[in-house]
Amino acid sequence: MINLILFGPPGSGKGTQAARLVEKYKLMHVSTGDLFRYEMGNDTPLGLKAKEYISKGELVPDEVTVGMLSNKLDMYPEAKGFILDGFPRNVFQSEALDKLLSDKNSAVTQLIALDVEEEEIVQRILKRAETSGRKDDADEGIIRNRIEVYKNETAIVFDYYEKANKAKRISGMGSIDEITNRLFEEIDSIL
Ligand code: UDP
Ligand code: MG
Repeated sequence: MINLILFGPPGSGKGTQAARLVEKYKLMHVSTGDLFRYEMGNDTPLGLKAKEYISKGELVPDEVTVGMLSNKLDMYPEAKGFILDGFPRNVFQSEALDKLLSDKNSAVTQLIALDVEEEEIVQRILKRAETSGRKDDADEGIIRNRIEVYKNETAIVFDYYEKANKAKRISGMGSIDEITNRLFEEIDSIL
């Protein structure tokens, strides 16, 4: 399997780029944020639980997120691989992911981080709020908190995979097409 982690702060373009990568490389896109929003939209118990945290820009507890992700991976035993977007978000989740994949005789192939300046991120998210309908996009306080959580808990996931020589950083600044081309180049060089 080819398992890519598309990594980066909120608003760095992971979802947008993942859609393009999926098309080219025929991998399954798994966005834990999208999965939570689906559950929230249907008012399921999982969605209600997630909402308590998402509405504040905090991380949903690990056991909830890892359980949901594990179920999702199990749903596609025939998949050529996955593009993980928004997961893992801390070191515990990284270790859990490695275990889930090794149980499938697989592993993370590569983490690719999109590097975007903080003020650019805030502007992008506020802009996205106009169409996303996401409450956590519309409030600058919540956005700042998401960025803080990213810095305090998530950024270190890069180092975790870098120790295994599996982490790469590319610029997430510029046009969407420019960034897609950088990703294609990077991924083509791995595969
Ligand atoms: N979230 C989480 N764990 C995940 C994915 C999402 O806790 O694995 C929560 C968290 O509160 C985050 C929100 O969902 O702020 C939105 O996540 P998403 O990945 O959709 O936003 P992005 O970071 O792409 O802007
Ligand atoms: Mg996203």
